[in-house]
Amino acid sequence: MMAAIREEEHYCRKCGRAITRDEAAVTKKLINRGTTSYYCAGCLADAFDVRTEDIWEKIKYYKEIGCTLFDNINV
Ligand SMILES: [Zn+2]
Repeated sequence: MMAAIREEEHYCRKCGRAITRDEAAVTKKLINRGTTSYYCAGCLADAFDVRTEDIWEKIKYYKEIGCTLFDNINV
């Protein structure tokens, strides 16, 4: 199955920072797959009371297990 790759601009709902596709994807994982509100890694960490590094670790983990929300891997 081909995943359409679109460059959409998302901004953190809390701090307004432009966020990456990975941050948008992890927001969906952590909050709700259908969410239209996105948060940067720092604000997600705040919301879940974890460290920002933990959020990046989750992103790495989901990519490793091949989560389809993280289908556009360009690191
Ligand atoms: Zn933020």
